[in-house]
Amino acid sequence: MHDDLLPVQRLQENLQAVERRQNERDAILAEEANAAEAVTRAAQALASAREAVERATQDLRQSERRLETYQKRVADTRRLMDSGKADDYLLAHQQLEGCLEVVDQTETEALERMEAKDAARIALERAEHACVEADRRLERARAQKDTRLPIVEQEIETLLAARPPLEKDIPTDCRDGVRRLRAQGRSLLSVLKDGSCSHCAMRAAPQVILEVARGSRVHACRSCGRFLVDDSE
Ligand SMILES: [Zn+2]
Repeated sequence: MHDDLLPVQRLQENLQAVERRQNERDAILAEEANAAEAVTRAAQALASAREAVERATQDLRQSERRLETYQKRVADTRRLMDSGKADDYLLAHQQLEGCLEVVDQTETEALERMEAKDAARIALERAEHACVEADRRLERARAQKDTRLPIVEQEIETLLAARPPLEKDIPTDCRDGVRRLRAQGRSLLSVLKDGSCSHCAMRAAPQVILEVARGSRVHACRSCGRFLVDDSE
């Protein structure tokens, strides 16, 4: 590597180190926010699941009561018919048929509602479990924020404080290039791999390849503007 590029490399290391820590800081804060949101969502889902169980329980009770009522009517009508006390036997028979039909339908309905209640109970258990998980996730996120975030922020501060001398060390000839690259948010260096810029794949002229390999002259990529360094470095 050309000597002029050593300060560029040091500055790049500083820039990347700050970026890595900023990303880590963002990730820590994002995870805390997402975890808190997940807790809210889980609590809402739990409330809905509880309501669903309550509804299913009421529905089932309603079916059971209807079943009881009609079973009693069937029994009463039968007794009346068996004892010969029915005023109108045919009418009583029709009534009995009607009641038996309702009993049949209501039995089916009650079974379905029992299944629905079981399903609602299982969903409730899942919602409870999800709530516990969400709480744990938030706890972990907060613990991570408490322990790791101050360290990361301290490291960012230290790295930023170390940056001005690194910027001052950049050779005059490289300053415009460095400024442009930083304004574009690009890395400052690119490895010349098999004669091409490893970032943008632009092919370098043979003379450039040779001089970059020797470290005899500073070259920037014609396409992306990054300073070129040899594959071996
Ligand atoms: Zn390039």
